[in-house]
Amino acid sequence: CGIVGYVGGQSALDVVVAGLKRLEYRGYDSAGVAVLADGGLAAAKKAGKLVNLEKELVGRPLPAGATGIGHTRWATHGGPTDTNAHPHLDNAGRVAVVHNGIIENFAELRTELAERGHALVSETDTEVVAHLLAESFSSCGDLAESMRLVCRRLDGAFTLVAVHADEPDVVVGARRNSPLVVGLGEGEAFLASDVAAFIAYTRSAIELGQDQVVELRRDGDGGGAAGVSVTVTDFHGAPGEA
Ligand code: GLU
Repeated sequence: CGIVGYVGGQSALDVVVAGLKRLEYRGYDSAGVAVLADGGLAAAKKAGKLVNLEKELVGRPLPAGATGIGHTRWATHGGPTDTNAHPHLDNAGRVAVVHNGIIENFAELRTELAERGHALVSETDTEVVAHLLAESFSSCGDLAESMRLVCRRLDGAFTLVAVHADEPDVVVGARRNSPLVVGLGEGEAFLASDVAAFIAYTRSAIELGQDQVVELRRDGDGGGAAGVSVTVTDFHGAPGEA
């Protein structure tokens, strides 16, 4: 239902949770976040209101990181439980994905993944995407390319935003028949299902086009001011304009 992604110099968790609050008016039944920090990925998710997630984060704080994603879910496949809440992770816990919409061909993809030894733990249509991204990433080592490959296999409506622990300065998004907006700041950038999520930080925004993938990459950290590059392509890698 609501999606936020962030890469930049602030605490990603703070920016993402603040963004999710801005999207609360849309309604939801559960919420979750993932941050990249210390070479790993840490996630928390809870059924119910954002306040439940915030309590969880007080009891079990996530490490501070500058790259993160978050989601407020309105369940379509699988009830509103902690396990079905987003983000969804692969079995190694290296990739996390949030999703708005419905993956129509998720049942075939689940069967295929199970045959290849993946253990799916939720009842959602979304979880297949985390596993497919992990598989693609292990062969190409590039999250944006993995997202393009995976999107070509999906039917339905989706906004997807993902991170991978092996690319700690990258957030990737994609969309088909569901909105995704990119926010451009100074040394930081945002992804969201609605500009309301990041309007407090920047008024510079572009809408991602139909069947496009966007990569936000924080460059250089050599003491100077880091910038964030924004690269848009279609699902086949052809350069696009957002
Ligand atoms: N279909 C997904 C689910 O049920 C996403 C729902 C949403 O758009 O929030 O988990």
